[in-house]
Amino acid sequence: MPKIEWPVRPRLVCSRCLGFDSCRYNGQKLSDPLVEALELFVEFVTPCPEADIGLGIPRHPVRIIVHDGEQRMFQPATGLDHTGSMLEYVERFLEDLGEVDGFLLKSRSPSCGMRDVKQYREDGQSLITGRGAGLFGGEVARRFPGLAVEDEGRLHNVEIRDHFLRKLFTLADFRRIGGIGRASELVDFQSRNKLLLMAYDQERMRELGRIVAAQRSAGLERTVELYGGVLRSALSRGPSYRANINVLQHAFGYVSDHISPEERGFFLDHLEMYREGRTPLVTCIKLLESWIVRFHVDYLRDQTFFHPYPEELLDRCGGLGKDEYWR
Ligand code: SF4
Repeated sequence: MPKIEWPVRPRLVCSRCLGFDSCRYNGQKLSDPLVEALELFVEFVTPCPEADIGLGIPRHPVRIIVHDGEQRMFQPATGLDHTGSMLEYVERFLEDLGEVDGFLLKSRSPSCGMRDVKQYREDGQSLITGRGAGLFGGEVARRFPGLAVEDEGRLHNVEIRDHFLRKLFTLADFRRIGGIGRASELVDFQSRNKLLLMAYDQERMRELGRIVAAQRSAGLERTVELYGGVLRSALSRGPSYRANINVLQHAFGYVSDHISPEERGFFLDHLEMYREGRTPLVTCIKLLESWIVRFHVDYLRDQTFFHPYPEELLDRCGGLGKDEYWR
């Protein structure tokens, strides 16, 4: 496929220690290939809640203590309770943030972690069974369920990473067209995203079509509001491999009459391999793309299903590992 100029830069909130500053408790930073790759394509906002509330770098580590169902942020080495200043910071930061499309946060951190943070009993030493959220990450997850929100640990899984990137770039594009304020842009968005939405949620794809069709009576502002709500619901979970196969078969119908029986068999074999988890989705997509270019299938060429985010992100993330086939 010809290189596509990316029309929008998503606004992404990212933990500062993921490559931006040496602000971890031990004075170090982490390198994250995905964050490095994203730098060309997104606008980052990079908070470090612990440094920002003045805990210093380096600093004694903090822990989450749970007492009577309430979380507190405790620093065992100093005996200080930082809960009040952290909650005040979280509230102020999120209130002042403005529009963003997603969050990429450090896993396991008592501040930024969203689900896998150690939780301690009141003595500050013994662990409670099960893990929870940090004070910043937990509030992000509560307030922004419709955005692309993930921790860096989970993004090593190619399926989760692909869903995160699809969602991030789709939501950013929707924010862009919402800002333009023209009905034709919304019609175009729905048309370009038809196969992507078909893979995510067929029922909501139809609902979005009905919302766009009723634009004249509802008015553009209300239509964009309604559309955004349903779009975020449609993107809430990644597509199943069955839904992807359905879309691939649908797209294959546009080119199958133009190719040889051997090429048809080759594609169908790879579709079967994808179904069995022996090859990644991208193999089937690339096969289809070659025919889309060869036979000038304009409708498919414009579909975001085939290029939902810049291809460089796939390359720079190390491509698809053999254990990471997306099913
Ligand atoms: S995890 Fe969050 S609070 Fe901890 S160093 Fe990184 S950005 Fe700062």
